[in-house]
Amino acid sequence: MGFLSRLTQASKRAAPAKPDHCHVEIDGAPVRVALLWNDRALRYTLRLRGSVREPVVTIPARGKLAEARDFLERHRGWLRARLAALPAATPIVDGGWIPLRGEPHRIVHHAGRGLVRIDQHEGERRLLVTGSVEHLPRRVTDFLKREARRDLEAATARHAATLGVKVKTVRLGDPTSRWGSCSSTGTIAYSWRMIMAPPAVLDYLAAHEVAHLREMNHSDRFWRHVAAICPGMDEAKAWLNRHGASLHAVGAD
Ligand SMILES: [Zn+2]
Repeated sequence: MGFLSRLTQASKRAAPAKPDHCHVEIDGAPVRVALLWNDRALRYTLRLRGSVREPVVTIPARGKLAEARDFLERHRGWLRARLAALPAATPIVDGGWIPLRGEPHRIVHHAGRGLVRIDQHEGERRLLVTGSVEHLPRRVTDFLKREARRDLEAATARHAATLGVKVKTVRLGDPTSRWGSCSSTGTIAYSWRMIMAPPAVLDYLAAHEVAHLREMNHSDRFWRHVAAICPGMDEAKAWLNRHGASLHAVGAD
């Protein structure tokens, strides 16, 4: 083995690991923290994405895991306060509650097969979920995403027809900092979590994104387009400001 290859081997061994997460203890419980190694970052930063309960530490060029941990320790008080201010986590479990189109639904697990379905039982709205219990959160989430796609596609098509614009694609995702986006090429993306909000709020979001195909900005003209196709705009915006964060708490542990 030549000197150079020995050196390469040694530097490979010595290369610092770049894990994508670590944990910090808060009130006796470990909190998972995402680590973002970013060579263009100038300093360590700590932030929360929307109301997602996984904080992110950005590590700058030549940063080290040990330094990131020190940084996290120094900001533990700030992090504790911020996490405490988030809406309580709403895990998807048998017997738990989940909002669907703005109405609470009780999650009820059933042995057997079949699709997730909605029913009413003694005045209570329920989500009946079959299959094994360990797959229950995923089955509920998949169901919500299907319902979200249906409602969002319908609202998008309706508003696009009214405004006379053409939407190329509707995409669904789970962004943490916004509920929707619209590209100049006609692709509109939504958060599937919008299906948990009241229908008028989902309708406003679709109106907002479709109106961007007329105005790719937030000018007065843009807002006039939104108001024209969505009379409940102000109430919907207020609802999102007040309750939007709680939608991110659904499915968190
Ligand atoms: Zn916008």
